[in-house]
Amino acid sequence: MTEIKYPLHWKKKDFSIKIFCSIPNIATGILLKAENSHFIIDPGDGILRDLNNEIGVKKLLEITDVFITHGHHDHVGGVWSLLTYLRVMQKKSPLTIHYPDGCVEIESIYNAFKKVYSKSITYKINLKSIKKTNGFSSNNITVKPFPVIHKEFLSNGKTRQVPALGYNFVFDGKTICYGGDTAFCEALVSHARNADLAILEAGHDDETPDEMHMTMKEAVSIGKSAKKYFLVHVPE
Ligand SMILES: [Zn+2]
Ligand SMILES: [Zn+2]
Repeated sequence: MTEIKYPLHWKKKDFSIKIFCSIPNIATGILLKAENSHFIIDPGDGILRDLNNEIGVKKLLEITDVFITHGHHDHVGGVWSLLTYLRVMQKKSPLTIHYPDGCVEIESIYNAFKKVYSKSITYKINLKSIKKTNGFSSNNITVKPFPVIHKEFLSNGKTRQVPALGYNFVFDGKTICYGGDTAFCEALVSHARNADLAILEAGHDDETPDEMHMTMKEAVSIGKSAKKYFLVHVPE
């Protein structure tokens, strides 16, 4: 298997992205920066440690938006600690969490957090479930979500599609495409095309395509349509 050395970093003027890690079944953690605004994408386990090292407490408290691709633990495992840390450190400005409609993990974490800390939450949390994939602006970036194909196993051995999105982030004429976890799909093909950076999972560990992750070959074929690409979520 190809070994990927994290963190992966891309930067064009005031627009940058840092992927602290993206390891299937373990953790993802991504920081997006546009001018002085910071955004978190898929806060898996370890996100607080990485953000604290990277931007420190003050900037952490100023974070406005979190983007979730889907509810698997390797993408949302750090949400509880993030919300709690921001409470402990007395965040005052609101935090918006964008997530695919039907993502029960995010709603459950949020509800549990509200219940446990009902008397001591210092900041407002806006839960924004994304039902329609219309573009929107958040702070100073434009966000274009798109549906992807990603499944999970049930206890009876069958699979089901999970609510899952990819996102294009646009700032200062540059586009970053992040597909999240996805099988090969047309929406990803079209959103990655001509992107300045495409971040593509190659999480399937053999060369026979399935409906959960992309093979290395599929990810590379999409990556080549972008100006630059990173392969992530490759099994270690
Ligand atoms: Zn994953
Ligand atoms: Zn997943």
